[in-house]
Amino acid sequence: MPSNTSRRDLRVLFVTPEVHPLIKTGGLGDVSAALPAALRSLRVDVRILIPGYPKVLSGLKYKRKLANFSTLSQYPPSTLLSAKLPVNNSVSVPVFIIDCPGLYQRDGGPYSDTSAQDWPDNGLRFGLLSKIGAILASDASPLAWHPQVVHCNDWQSGLVPAYLNYHSGKKAASLMTIHNLAFQGIFPPGSVAQLGLPSDSFNMHGVEYYGNMSYLKAGLYYCDHISTVSPSYAEEIQSEPLGFGMQGLLSTRKENISGIINGIDTTEWDPAIDPLIPRTYTSKRLTTKDANKKALQLAMGLNVDPEIPLFGTISRLSHQKGCDILLQVAPELIKLPAQLVVLGNGMTEYEVEFANLSKTHPTKIAAYIGFSEKLSHLIEAGVDGFLMPSRFEPCGLNQMYSQRYGTPPVVHATGGLLDTVVDCPSALLTNDGNASGFLFKDMTADEFMKTIQRAVTAYDNKKVWRRLQKNGMAKDFSWRTSAVSYREIYLSLLASNE
Ligand code: ADP
Repeated sequence: MPSNTSRRDLRVLFVTPEVHPLIKTGGLGDVSAALPAALRSLRVDVRILIPGYPKVLSGLKYKRKLANFSTLSQYPPSTLLSAKLPVNNSVSVPVFIIDCPGLYQRDGGPYSDTSAQDWPDNGLRFGLLSKIGAILASDASPLAWHPQVVHCNDWQSGLVPAYLNYHSGKKAASLMTIHNLAFQGIFPPGSVAQLGLPSDSFNMHGVEYYGNMSYLKAGLYYCDHISTVSPSYAEEIQSEPLGFGMQGLLSTRKENISGIINGIDTTEWDPAIDPLIPRTYTSKRLTTKDANKKALQLAMGLNVDPEIPLFGTISRLSHQKGCDILLQVAPELIKLPAQLVVLGNGMTEYEVEFANLSKTHPTKIAAYIGFSEKLSHLIEAGVDGFLMPSRFEPCGLNQMYSQRYGTPPVVHATGGLLDTVVDCPSALLTNDGNASGFLFKDMTADEFMKTIQRAVTAYDNKKVWRRLQKNGMAKDFSWRTSAVSYREIYLSLLASNE
């Protein structure tokens, strides 16, 4: 490892199970595209490693074969390919793809089949991602390019630091980023032998987690540094309930935990140039936003009414996202009066309940059950206020998209929502210059509804609402600041590794 590594030749392997626009189930997909691009703009030589799902193989052109891996524990044979991921007009990010037809060449999502059942061999699928990540991050790599830092993301890459721990040669320092601690990658104890890890790794000081094996716990235990995606979430996970059983381990490592808020892709999410919305606009031409409201109301079969407050949400439909309390307030919300648009998919019971609500109130509540990038842009541009009652939210992206689109969000005061939305004080309904939305503290339907009412009162005061919109639109949510913080962590890891 050269000493005094300059920023220019800092080499980082970014291991991830998803990357937008090739494959995405949530915020991690967005982060995995935007953060490496922002780091490359800072002249960090970051390269992505991802499984070769069908959409990854078909979405990347000009792939080159780099190496074969035919004898890795009990993993099926795989080939390492390389390609370039175009992120925007000026930046592309090199990608390594693990082509392993036995594990990845199948219809369905990255983690589950077409009927939302987890793939039964997920342990092997992401064991292989981690194993190859660890090989590339060590002197056992067949490549000429050797990263100094391996940046792991969520449980799917959690075994990288574990494999590296048992590698006796030279190896990169490791950073483990938690995007959502609720997903822990739990597998039966027998997996340890199957994955080629030594049996003595299966103990409390290793990969064992309450009698099973946890890929995330392994990563958090063996990595050199931990980060998560907002300062508030970094604190919250060190105690119950948001530690989800990992609070003990995390609090013993608190000196090694950083909270860095995610940025957003400000090119893709820019109301001034967004090709996915009918009318583009800026903070100086906010009346144009109304045309998008009309288009959304028409598209979703709602009453076309420029005056009525229109709220929207875009979400995985899950308990985490507070779908239960949104379902409770929806009948009250439309009495205000107001309208509601929901875009989401996920747990069947929520999908059915939102679909039923929209059938009962077709001109006031609209639900699109599915995943639609295009509709998500129209919702951000077309609604007046965005609802995000997440029980917990490591960072959250939509509250930032919303502020950028002049759509003040109503959010639960947790994690990244607390760190990125500034509450509009209810008494004055004026603001101190940076209020940009509405926060509620108690995770109850009652508090949520009261806060929506606060938002509607503010909406009725056009001057206050414009101020809120403009405050949100003026904020800098770009990746640059976050990327600088990640670069600082990489450099500090190098310094302590030397
Ligand atoms: P999480 O990663 O926990 O699901 P985030 O707010 O961090 O939540 O990121 C979710 C991302 O996925 C956002 O970009 C959001 O717009 C997008 N998204 C979620 N559900 C849908 C959907 N049904 N259609 C389109 N985009 C969606």
